[in-house]
Amino acid sequence: MGEEGIIGTMRLSEFWDYVPGNPLKPPVEMAWTYMTDNYTRFQIATLGSVLVHMLSYYLISTPSILCQFLPFMQRFKIQNDKPETAKNQWKCVKLLLMSQLFIQLPIICASYLYCEMFSIPFEWDKMPAWYVLLAQFYACLVIEDTWHYFLHRALHDKRIYKYIHKVHHNFQAPFGMVAEYAHPAETMILGMGTMWGILLMGNHLAFLWGWMVVRLLETIDVHSGYDIPMSPLHLLPFYGGARFHDFHHMNFNGNYSSTFTWWDKIFGTDRQYKDYIKEKTDKKD
Ligand SMILES: [Zn+2]
Ligand SMILES: [Zn+2]
Repeated sequence: MGEEGIIGTMRLSEFWDYVPGNPLKPPVEMAWTYMTDNYTRFQIATLGSVLVHMLSYYLISTPSILCQFLPFMQRFKIQNDKPETAKNQWKCVKLLLMSQLFIQLPIICASYLYCEMFSIPFEWDKMPAWYVLLAQFYACLVIEDTWHYFLHRALHDKRIYKYIHKVHHNFQAPFGMVAEYAHPAETMILGMGTMWGILLMGNHLAFLWGWMVVRLLETIDVHSGYDIPMSPLHLLPFYGGARFHDFHHMNFNGNYSSTFTWWDKIFGTDRQYKDYIKEKTDKKD
């Protein structure tokens, strides 16, 4: 039995020899090592994190901005009776820049203190395996979604709605950049959902940056205003997607989750959405 076990193990290890290597690994390793060799931990944790956040935010938002100029993409627009306007987009960018400068910048810079306090490694050699990172990202999404569901639902309470969350609902038909368009208090309250994963699982700078990009991908996708069927995000089990959150902006009630559909299903807060979808399908038939 012991021999069989050894043969089995050898075969498995030999199997990996035949799997082609990731062609992106050498250049990424070179760039990462250059960064850790030439910049201080302070520079990487502050300037590096700010750059990763800003570049990711605007790069990920770009496709949905371009979609409005591409006629063939209009079939995927969810509320196609409400086209985007330059006036709305400019209004959004102005508040976004203020929020990113005065609220998010200090929070991101504080990540240096967190990295020092918990001795978060930055070295390439200490980077967790890709499958560990993927599992961590999924766990982070689950934690964030749970936090978001309950706190977001609380922000809709009639007694406080007009003071904080009303700002995010300024756009009834959202577009990608709306993702972070919110009152500073909301950025702090709901942003805490993103922080929990870092506080609970932070084990490398690559995880912190990777999670930041994954979270931006998710939130910009659900605010994009376009439901693109071939989006790989639809492969995530129970992913709500753009149509799910777009309904929340259109209807103001229900669909409180950020990423998954289970909390709304459990508490029945997706009822109006289900009725709306049923009505639309019946009309088509
Ligand atoms: Zn809301
Ligand atoms: Zn929203």
